[in-house]
Amino acid sequence: DEPIQETDEAIIDSKEEPKVKLKITDFTFLKYLGKGTFGEVALVRYKQSSNLYAMKILEKKHLAIHKQIEHTKTERDVLVKLRHPFLVQLVFAFQDSRRLFFVTEFMQGGELFFHLHREIFFDDDKTRFYICEIILALEFIHSKNFVYRDLKPENLLLDKDGHIHLTDFGLSKLIDKHKDKAFTICGTPQYLAPEVLKGTGYDNSVDWWSLGILMYEMLSGKLPFPSLCKGYLSYEMYDEALKSFNIPRNFTKEAV
Ligand code: ADP
Repeated sequence: DEPIQETDEAIIDSKEEPKVKLKITDFTFLKYLGKGTFGEVALVRYKQSSNLYAMKILEKKHLAIHKQIEHTKTERDVLVKLRHPFLVQLVFAFQDSRRLFFVTEFMQGGELFFHLHREIFFDDDKTRFYICEIILALEFIHSKNFVYRDLKPENLLLDKDGHIHLTDFGLSKLIDKHKDKAFTICGTPQYLAPEVLKGTGYDNSVDWWSLGILMYEMLSGKLPFPSLCKGYLSYEMYDEALKSFNIPRNFTKEAV
């Protein structure tokens, strides 16, 4: 069975000359960059233009087993529709019989997560800088009626100049904030807004909750609700965790 029906090639970024049919041999592999949940990411050079890109390779077989086809389609659709200086830009998407290939801008600065862990925490200025860029990215995503739902340090990459780029749109969803609500419980427990678990529906404000968690983490190197962990999470557990919330003494008045 072919899990993914679409066979069209997508050449998205006008930086590159359209080419009729892309294949893996149009790229030279340079280096392994990282492992995602469902595939690998490599640094590649597009032979035609010599430009460097990050290529995410997903095995269709693997996606089908883990029921990830919808998420992968969403990721591709979102990446095609959303273009913003603080979002990782999709350049090409193509496939062969076994694999899907997403070619995106290469983020030379790596994960923000890595920098945060090395420095333990960021001062107000650095935090303000990153948080502002994330706000602009989120405002843009929301203006297109999407909710991002997966804001966390692992999904924030830095370009060569140190600017933030949001990546990983697998959990994003189109919702009209004036009419729709989302109900699916997804995201990462530590960054999850309580209303996601409540079961009464939520909207794009969940991204602002996650931003608050992220800001706390940048300023302190710690998570505000450390008892929330992977695995089963109920609204009651969340309610309990919220009671233990406190603001570290080293936070400035502005940060608080
Ligand atoms: P998943 O969404 O499955 O976790 P990611 O898209 O986060 O996979 O990719 C896995 C890792 O590969 C990232 O954590 C990052 O280190 C690296 N990576 C992904 N995209 C890029 C990119 N555009 N530029 C540089 N490194 C990247």
